[in-house]
Amino acid sequence: MSLFNLRQEEIEAYCVRCRKTVLMKNIEDYEMKNGKKAWKGTCSECGAVLFRIKPAPREGMW
Ligand SMILES: [Zn+2]
Repeated sequence: MSLFNLRQEEIEAYCVRCRKTVLMKNIEDYEMKNGKKAWKGTCSECGAVLFRIKPAPREGMW
């Protein structure tokens, strides 16, 4: 399965609080200080804030 085909509701990230990969909720676009694009969301299980760097950027992809 390609990451590029994921819908936003399906994005997973590693939650350090749950110590496992969880589904992200309340996903929004986020730009890191170093300019990398990421998703920001909350853990669907404990509510911790999670970030996930977007895969290799292609212009116009997002
Ligand atoms: Zn969690």
